[in-house]
Amino acid sequence: MTDHTTPSRRLLLGGALATTALGGLGLATAGGAAAHGTLQTYSGINGARTHYEGTGSAASWAYRPSFHDRLNSWLQFWNDNTPSGWADASEVWGYGAHTDHRTSEAHNNGRGFDLSRIYTGSGPTRRFYARYDIWKDWAEDDSKRTTRRRYWATSAACHHHFRNVLTYLYNSAHWNHIHIDNLVSGSGNSTFSTSSEAQVMHVQASCKFVWGLGTTIDGVWGSQTASHSTRALRAAGVSSGSITTSQAKWLAFNRHTMRNGYDTQNYPAA
Ligand SMILES: [Zn+2]
Repeated sequence: MTDHTTPSRRLLLGGALATTALGGLGLATAGGAAAHGTLQTYSGINGARTHYEGTGSAASWAYRPSFHDRLNSWLQFWNDNTPSGWADASEVWGYGAHTDHRTSEAHNNGRGFDLSRIYTGSGPTRRFYARYDIWKDWAEDDSKRTTRRRYWATSAACHHHFRNVLTYLYNSAHWNHIHIDNLVSGSGNSTFSTSSEAQVMHVQASCKFVWGLGTTIDGVWGSQTASHSTRALRAAGVSSGSITTSQAKWLAFNRHTMRNGYDTQNYPAA
């Protein structure tokens, strides 16, 4: 036993030391570089300064440029669909983008972002708060209802632009941020699949918390979710089809969920 254990332990330590040394110098191994391609460091997204949720301090992170382009487009969409009297997003808080320190294909590739807050204007004013770990314990009052509506509105903006979006409903690892990445959707907008638990949970929570329907949230596509999401589309003025009909209907569901959740536009009851 000893003869077998000793060399393998030495190999493990050697591997760990090599990785740490390279990582400490900011160098990637050949495998790592091939995996994440060219990374570029940015101090913000679409003109909004990025801040680290852990400290509140301004922070610059590394991204794949094509993913960062999508984040710029996403935040512009968010600006365009918040009330016209609001200033644009000035700060975006989160836990970062690229990392080699944990196993995550999206983050290892600089193609994932962990979003926790959005502020607007020079005040600045907090308009989105992903800290479900904190607000889940608030009393059920207008402040909590507004926070939750805006959470799902911002989730809709994310789902509009990215195929992979993980919210607090997905698991407790996402109680303090929304994970977004473009591993599937690339440079385009997202498409909807009834087999995606994360997307179905987003649809159900949007129907319940933004559109005011008594939708069951279980991550499973069924007749109630189909009916309620179509009622939301009809309230939004989309006169035919459903979110499973075409990408355009799915994107419309998310755009109107965004506008309803932020009270940018008034909608009839769904
Ligand atoms: Zn993430």
